[in-house]
Amino acid sequence: MHGTISHFDTSAAAGGVLTIDCRALADNYRRLRAQVAPARAAAVVKANAYGLGALDVVPELIAAGCRDFFVAHLGEALELLPAVRDKYGARGLAPLRLYVLNGLMPGSEGTCAAAGIVPVINSLDQLERWARTAAARGEKLPAVLQFDSGMSRLGMAQEEAGVVVREGLAEGLDILAIMSHLASADEPHNPQNDDQLRVLRTIAAAFPDALVSFANSSGAFLGADYHGALARPGIALYGGAPTAAGKNPMRPVVRLDVRVIQTRTVPAGARIGYGGAFVAPATMRLATLAVGYADGLPRCLGNRGAAWFEGVRLPMVGRVSMDSLIVDATALPEGALAEGALVELIGPHQSLEDLAAAAGTISYELLTQLGRRYHRRYR
Ligand SMILES: *Cc1c(COP(=O)(O)O)cnc(C)c1O
Repeated sequence: MHGTISHFDTSAAAGGVLTIDCRALADNYRRLRAQVAPARAAAVVKANAYGLGALDVVPELIAAGCRDFFVAHLGEALELLPAVRDKYGARGLAPLRLYVLNGLMPGSEGTCAAAGIVPVINSLDQLERWARTAAARGEKLPAVLQFDSGMSRLGMAQEEAGVVVREGLAEGLDILAIMSHLASADEPHNPQNDDQLRVLRTIAAAFPDALVSFANSSGAFLGADYHGALARPGIALYGGAPTAAGKNPMRPVVRLDVRVIQTRTVPAGARIGYGGAFVAPATMRLATLAVGYADGLPRCLGNRGAAWFEGVRLPMVGRVSMDSLIVDATALPEGALAEGALVELIGPHQSLEDLAAAAGTISYELLTQLGRRYHRRYR
């Protein structure tokens, strides 16, 4: 019994195999770093590194030379602490840093300070609490000051920059950067980019000694004006397209292959899946795949998306179920698809962007929804 289990292909126990290409990830990091040079490139690893596994992704990026990691929540930073314990500090590299984008929540100051995590300060109240914490601990605590340059989401208002300087609110803190976030960077000709740049420049002038952090993935491709000194790419590291038009310059990182769990032939008129939302117009060969909306395949892919097998497109027919969906395999020769076979959902025939477009969403949402049920392979 024991022997049987140890020889069992563990990937066969899952509905699909999610393969994460760590070399492509590292290449994408270096590509982005070259794109923004001489600025530094951080890595945004929030939401479990966009669903790919932050504890696996971070060490790869450290090996590729990344020193700065942004997450959304303090909890995410705490989970990553073991991965960024500095093994390289002695060699004179910049310290490894974890930044929390969502700000400094009341009650978290002590934890944040003790762990050496850098809060992105989004309000005067956060700034005052952080400065008080620094004074109480008798140390200069690091911080990034975020300002809203026109997205109206997070950060201090433009006018508050003057207050910070005049009242010396950041004294006693080590201001690592002045930061803002672009709302329309994926649209190079959107005038909002220019508007935001102008606002950020005005704010940054009040902090002549601080670095500027501005560009996300798309911002890195807007030109040097947008790079600042510390870029914050996320999606492009994971193979998402940083620009809407033209060829995606990033290497694909994610591949998703899912298992065929049954095949059948149905006659014309057969109703397929929940609600009979597809009716076979003729005799059809069908394959049921072991993946559904519980695995992050949006329900709206029903009757719209496709899987691929040996270069042949297999359209999804009927609704996506929780744990399965059905594809039309009529285009394949009889017997070509057997139980247990793997078909491609994300890979050389269908990119992450293709699948996201078929679902009417963006690569970000698709990646972060992929879920925990896949067998994950890091190579
Ligand atoms: C998520 C996020 C990023 C990364 O954006 P991408 O478009 O994935 O490159 C950068 N900065 C902030 C503030 C973010 O919230």
